[in-house]
Amino acid sequence: MSSVRLESIRKVYGEEVAVDGIDLEIQDGETLGIVGPSGCGKTTTLRTIAGFETPTDGHVTFDGIDVTHVPPEKRNVGLVFQSYALFETKTVRKNVTFGLQMRDVPKAERRKRADELLELLDIADLADRNPATLSGGQQQRVGLARALAIEPHVLLLDEPMTGLDAELKLKLRDEIGSLLDELDVTALYVTHDQEEAMAMCDRIAVLNDGQVEQVGTPDRIYRQPANEFVATFVGTSNILTGTARNGRIDLGFTELVTDIQETGEVTVAARPEDFSLGGPVDATVLETTYLGQRMDLRAELPDDSVVTIHVDGDADYRAGDVVGVEIDPEKIQIFSTGTRERTT
Ligand code: ATP
Repeated sequence: MSSVRLESIRKVYGEEVAVDGIDLEIQDGETLGIVGPSGCGKTTTLRTIAGFETPTDGHVTFDGIDVTHVPPEKRNVGLVFQSYALFETKTVRKNVTFGLQMRDVPKAERRKRADELLELLDIADLADRNPATLSGGQQQRVGLARALAIEPHVLLLDEPMTGLDAELKLKLRDEIGSLLDELDVTALYVTHDQEEAMAMCDRIAVLNDGQVEQVGTPDRIYRQPANEFVATFVGTSNILTGTARNGRIDLGFTELVTDIQETGEVTVAARPEDFSLGGPVDATVLETTYLGQRMDLRAELPDDSVVTIHVDGDADYRAGDVVGVEIDPEKIQIFSTGTRERTT
């Protein structure tokens, strides 16, 4: 078993509260993603697990054993960073076997394990090359092989795809995602790219201001965001305000029939795909973006709010067109305006 638990972790630097009471568990074999805006505490959380930071308060446990004060080199964690940090003077194979050598693993076994990983990552033919002669994507694979070679208790990845081109990112994220699944590695994946996290992680923790806003499967985070912050940070949400009464929400220009119990001011988060065409609400198209299968419309609703609406790619709209739309009350998320938490 390889689980990691963070209990009430706080990290304060002088006046700056970087992490403000985080409870998180990375379960055995799972990839947990951490997403959140710049400065929300993602890297500090990862560094606390690695042992590079000692928390001001709280505990880190590996399989129930408290490692809060165990130095990084004794924690057996694998690290993959954006800057590949490979040894420039060693071959690819030597880079991968290095950690095993430090752990006194016999030479034949070191080589066997390295070659297996290089094979798995599809870079066996690069074993004798020098890292300086490799592309960014190849170097990142070597970094991953090196981190996995030591069979870490937990693999920590901090923005590993940053700096790679878009196409390579997509390819690597699929490959790495499957590999982590296949090898049953317990991993923490830090990224500011929520789409990447959705594609690669079993569960995602959304952080904001040093606190966890929500933890859940990508699907749950997207479809049932716990609050307005998560609804707007993960994916696109159009935020509308209205008044709830007797199960209906009055948005001013239309009324939505829902099962809301609450009465009073509410915030409605509607995804671009929660709108359908042919409805009673006049939306004036401001801008269109053609994306092949889909077209994105920026449109103004009768209350002057501007929303993003997804329509089929074969639609033919132009700026200035007035389109009748409808908001699907079954799909929208409703939050109390006061607390910004979901109402149901
Ligand atoms: P980014 O996405 O920009 O990398 P992050 O979510 O990883 O951000 P952290 O690097 O964990 O955020 O930083 C959290 C907060 O703590 C920030 O406000 C940062 O300025 C502060 N911080 C981090 N490390 C230190 C430090 N060594 N000294 C002082 N403040 C720090």
